[in-house]
Amino acid sequence: MNVIHPTYLIGRGKKRMYVRKDTEPLADRAHLAIATVHGDEMTYIQEALDTNWVTTAGSNITALEELAARTVGVRSAVGLGTGTSALHMCVKLAAEKAYGPGLPGQPCLAGKRVFATDMTFAATVNPAVYEGAELVFIDSERDTWNMDPDALTKAFALYPDTRIVIVANLYGTPARLDRIREVCTAHDAILIEDAAESLGATYLGRQTGTFGDLSAISFNGNKIITGSCGGMLLTDDTEAAAHARKWSTQSREPAAWYQHEEIGYNYRMSNITAGIVRAQFPHLSEHIAQKKAVYMRYKEGLAGLPVTMNPYLADCSEPNFWLSCLLIDEDAMCECTRTATTSSFTPTHGKTCPDEILAALASINAEGRPIWKPMSMQPVFAGNAFVTTSPDSPVDADIFRRGLCLPSDNKLTQEAQMTIIETIKRCFE
Ligand SMILES: *Cc1c(COP(=O)(O)O)cnc(C)c1O
Repeated sequence: MNVIHPTYLIGRGKKRMYVRKDTEPLADRAHLAIATVHGDEMTYIQEALDTNWVTTAGSNITALEELAARTVGVRSAVGLGTGTSALHMCVKLAAEKAYGPGLPGQPCLAGKRVFATDMTFAATVNPAVYEGAELVFIDSERDTWNMDPDALTKAFALYPDTRIVIVANLYGTPARLDRIREVCTAHDAILIEDAAESLGATYLGRQTGTFGDLSAISFNGNKIITGSCGGMLLTDDTEAAAHARKWSTQSREPAAWYQHEEIGYNYRMSNITAGIVRAQFPHLSEHIAQKKAVYMRYKEGLAGLPVTMNPYLADCSEPNFWLSCLLIDEDAMCECTRTATTSSFTPTHGKTCPDEILAALASINAEGRPIWKPMSMQPVFAGNAFVTTSPDSPVDADIFRRGLCLPSDNKLTQEAQMTIIETIKRCFE
């Protein structure tokens, strides 16, 4: 077996023999997803600097909140430092709606169960843990790789007193948001939608970020548009938005002096960050079109292979195609194993595995990544419950085993993508 050290997967290792010598590494690194700066960002940054509005108030924040709310289609948007802090505010508001105001400074979800997407980035679920919640992870469905509404229904049968659900739209693909909404409504539960990866994606003609009672988006550097960092809470509940705004600026009561009735946070977005995002927003649809072209070229270029792309519901949703992913057919998988931090496989004629493809990509200066490892498989959540409709073989563990994320940067050239596609093909030889 070839043993691949994790650092190798991010391109620091030696070339392996199974990557043919005649493939020239790409001169420009093919990134998974990085920021695309257009130039007009400086106008808004300069305006902030020129007017001394460099902190957490100013015209960029005000304009951005208005722009985001209008673009996505919600009443209120609250600019925050990160997507994670936006999710934290969502969790606190959901707890308040479900259980009433808690005690100052006490975790507001201590002893409460929260249902959450299992196969996602840890930031989806961590804020609920900050508040003492006991997370129950919900398996994915094959058709969207997102939360399985049937598994969610099953979770409510097992734990009927649960009042908060957190759903993520993985890799920019909307979950089955109408069904998830229905299940939540039937059980009087509050839905938090983590649309950090899916800004601009639509489901049934509506943008993601409008399906949750409370939703979060992110402007981290690798997302579809960026502010270098940054996030937003989105909601139609203007009172909740005002409350999040107050919490995020240290919970100051309206008084001449610092007056506090609640514990606060320093979570507000800076006016500089807001300036960058403000300039990026008009380029959102262009970025989506570029990402979609990347996805379609992979789909076409890999058509003859025993693989499928990350799926979406073509009849009712339009992803933002943030990341293009592959799933290798079971009968084309070579022998492979992963420990907690390393991976090994046996190069086999006609077969491959995600880690072989990732190593081959790394050797040509292209950056892929394994599928986000499900939370239920993480040591830190070893004691948490996991609900699935296929207990013999959970869907998301299978996608993690057979899937990978491909270089999906919107600046990826057709030429580089052809080299990537050829390199993937060779792994199956
Ligand atoms: C990026 C991301 C977040 C967190 O956003 P930050 O702005 O990086 O804090 C949350 N959830 C998902 C699914 C993400 O991909």
